[in-house]
Amino acid sequence: MSERLPGSPGVAASHGHILELIRSAGGLSRQELLAATGMSRATLYERLDALARRGYVYEAESLGVKVGRRPRNIRFDDRGRIALTFALGQTSATVSVADTDGAPLRSVVVQHEITATAETVLAPLVEVGRSLLAEGDGGETLVGVGVGVPAPVEAGTGRVVHATTVPQWNPDAVVASIGRAWSVPLVVENDAMATALGERSSDAETLVYVKVGTGIGCGIVVDGSILRGAHGAAGSIGHIRVAPDGPLCRCGRHGCLAAFSSGLAISEQLIGGGRRTLGQIREAAERGDTEVSRTLHSAADTLGGALGATITTINPHRLVLGGRIGSLPAFVDGVRERVLADVVDRIANGLLVEAGAPDDRSAVRGLTTLVMRKAFAPASVDQSIGAFALAGELVP
Ligand SMILES: [Zn+2]
Repeated sequence: MSERLPGSPGVAASHGHILELIRSAGGLSRQELLAATGMSRATLYERLDALARRGYVYEAESLGVKVGRRPRNIRFDDRGRIALTFALGQTSATVSVADTDGAPLRSVVVQHEITATAETVLAPLVEVGRSLLAEGDGGETLVGVGVGVPAPVEAGTGRVVHATTVPQWNPDAVVASIGRAWSVPLVVENDAMATALGERSSDAETLVYVKVGTGIGCGIVVDGSILRGAHGAAGSIGHIRVAPDGPLCRCGRHGCLAAFSSGLAISEQLIGGGRRTLGQIREAAERGDTEVSRTLHSAADTLGGALGATITTINPHRLVLGGRIGSLPAFVDGVRERVLADVVDRIANGLLVEAGAPDDRSAVRGLTTLVMRKAFAPASVDQSIGAFALAGELVP
């Protein structure tokens, strides 16, 4: 399927690579594609025809779409394509049908306890997913399914590993339950990592995202890619040891950051009035409750102190704080104050520390990005075009 071009050291771009160029640019003209690929006009046009016949691209002008001064005439055909996403937190999950940009079209929030068995948590979510899909107008095509879980995930296999938060789950639980329910590409990702990807404003942005809800999660995005590390555990900052003789963490060790700054730890520190839910803590913070404000500030200060090394090592453009506790203005202010005080000027200069989207919007966007990357990976597209050719159509 590939050929060497005269005078070119490279190989002609495959159908899948051409589609990727078009998709990532939000549309391109034939001229731009010729320049980007260095291919011969005849080969490029033949490949565009094959992509159009298979329904991957369309010509905007042929549909009467205004193309403007810079005619990005060849567009990725995203019409009717949707992703189904499951953004699981420790106490609730957001199930969404989203368009290909990750904007939710329909969403349902389901309450659960992530510490229950995988079957108890996942089976109701599959049902919600089915009914959300059934609400479509019949013109929707499911491209893939994305699942975010609050635990490290092994890249490629979707296995949930090192799971302090889901001790009862079999590593293959998500693949076996949600994955088997739909015969489309499946992506399973750590929730904070997926959300970090959804929070980034462009592929040029280096971003550290920290989620503080019941627990603490962290995702790092560099050049549009998630930093996973060797075992999918990069960003497990909740278990950075901040005081060797500190309180007991759920991981069994003493003095982890999560034992000071997670929603669970904050709730336990607020002894007045009994243990409070994250919703109650948020309300009290918004009311200006003194004890809650003081406890949040102390937790934010400890988190900011623990993040200094991470921020200095990564040197991000932005540190984004999300989750029901993390996105509280008082918490963001506390973290910003401590981080900016601790790191050297060349790291602090221009560093933005701000709150992320208050709901699961960024998680849905990040999961959709991952689904789209998998479903329209050049190799998958080439395989599909190849199968189409074998079925009787001649493809150059
Ligand atoms: Zn720990």
